[in-house]
Amino acid sequence: MAGTGVFSEILDGDVYKYYHDGEWKKSSSGKTVAIVNPTTRKTQYKVQACTQEEVNKVMESAKSAQKAWAKTPLWKRAELLHKAAAILKEHKAPIAECLIKEIAKPAKDSVTEVVRSGDLVSYTAEEGVRILGEGKFLVSDSFPGNERTKYCLTSKIPLGVVLAIPPFNYPVNLAVSKIGPALIAGNSLVLKPPTQGAVSCLHMVHCFHLAGFPKGLINCVTGKGSEIGDFLTMHPGANCISFTGGDTGISISKKAAMIPLQMELGGKDACIVLEDADLDLVAANIIKGGFSYSGQRCTAIKVVLVMESVADSLVEKVKAKVAKLRVGPPEDDCDITPVVTESSANFIEGLVMDAKEKGATFCQKYKREGNLIWPVLLDNVRPDMRIAWEEPFGPILPVIRINSVEEGIHHCNASNFGLQGCVFTKDINKAVLISDAMETGTVQINSAPARGPDHFPFQGLKDSGIGSQGITNSINMMTKVKTTVINLPCPSYTMGSSGSSIRSRI
Ligand code: NAP
Repeated sequence: MAGTGVFSEILDGDVYKYYHDGEWKKSSSGKTVAIVNPTTRKTQYKVQACTQEEVNKVMESAKSAQKAWAKTPLWKRAELLHKAAAILKEHKAPIAECLIKEIAKPAKDSVTEVVRSGDLVSYTAEEGVRILGEGKFLVSDSFPGNERTKYCLTSKIPLGVVLAIPPFNYPVNLAVSKIGPALIAGNSLVLKPPTQGAVSCLHMVHCFHLAGFPKGLINCVTGKGSEIGDFLTMHPGANCISFTGGDTGISISKKAAMIPLQMELGGKDACIVLEDADLDLVAANIIKGGFSYSGQRCTAIKVVLVMESVADSLVEKVKAKVAKLRVGPPEDDCDITPVVTESSANFIEGLVMDAKEKGATFCQKYKREGNLIWPVLLDNVRPDMRIAWEEPFGPILPVIRINSVEEGIHHCNASNFGLQGCVFTKDINKAVLISDAMETGTVQINSAPARGPDHFPFQGLKDSGIGSQGITNSINMMTKVKTTVINLPCPSYTMGSSGSSIRSRI
């Protein structure tokens, strides 16, 4: 159970502590932040509201711990990560329980998130020892005007303190996707978990604590992003920010100092359906892609662009599947569970009402109880409706009927987002041409958009992000290239000089 057994030391009364310098601590603020259970709409947990002074101290500890960690052999860093991964998986049940209570993630998906996170940490350890164990060797005579007198050795060095800020929807997985690469590359870490998802993150951090990482290397401060977020992201002690979330990331990137930024932001992933598509496959993917975790996924299908000639048939197939979705509490492992907050539910409702006023066709009756919103497919959506462009982050999916492929590509590219997209057709040549024309970081052919497997490169164009994620890319992003140049007194060619010419020069 959450907060018990090995996790009892992270709890003080009914308030979870924050993690600094290898210890679980109470904030001197005396204030707490309540985490409201999306299902019951009652306070489920409380966490510390950390102060700016505490953030300063955390940054100092992270800075000094990093110096020693950078000198720790790569194989030892990997060994500790493997240990943390195993502990994380061993404690999947209490962490999954937190996910269910904090973010209303269906029970099975909650367990999957923790197991997938353990796998990600192990894979990161393995990938790290390979790619950080190798450098480059360059010679000067490949550049015009140069002789072979310079040998350049390159290696990858850590950046320092990485500030990691994940979003609510995958608080554990998107935290470890930053923690793993940061640590294997020799960085230290300051984690600011999302408020909804903070307690899941604190349990996950305790697994790293139990693995025996050095004091101060991993730290976790809690509090509302709106209160301590700016202080953290503009802190001179942060040498890199890895952020996943919504528009907040755009404002962070404008305010942050001259440090590397990894921003994985929102999306409006389009699903383009051609006339020759396998409509049963499309319908199954629309259900999985559009309605899993109630549409609260960055890579959810957020608009269907279907050729008019097959639209009636596709809508009927999707409607039949929507009718079978189980709506209810996450504990019962329902397909559609309450959305994360009341304000989120209100926002979704605003999009639905706008579409209603402007004449969209409702394939199901709109129904809401508290934060629980029943799934709705909106047909005949037009570009003047907000739902055509905005990210609902809820179980509402718009269908726009198109008369040409170009119309579909145009709608996709007119979005300010460019995360992923997908195209369904049996013609691989058309699929590739459409994929190339779509201005998105990834295009899936004949499947719904998805972030995983976690080692695949993952990136958004335009307002969807800066940089690229995926295990290898994240490790590279959290390092800087260092070069050492050996200058020789004369050109030297492997096996290319006679001994006498060398003797005359040295
Ligand atoms: P969010 O509101 O942007 O919050 C993300 C994180 O930022 C949370 O930890 C939040 O903390 C923190 N935060 C808030 N204000 C801050 C500030 N001023 N400075 C620093 N941090 C601040 O996003 P969300 O609602 O949690 O997540 C949903 C969004 O994430 C969607 O737009 C979704 O598409 C996107 N997302 C993108 C990806 C991707 O990889 N591209 C993956 C998943 C989700 P608090 O919770 O305390 O406010």
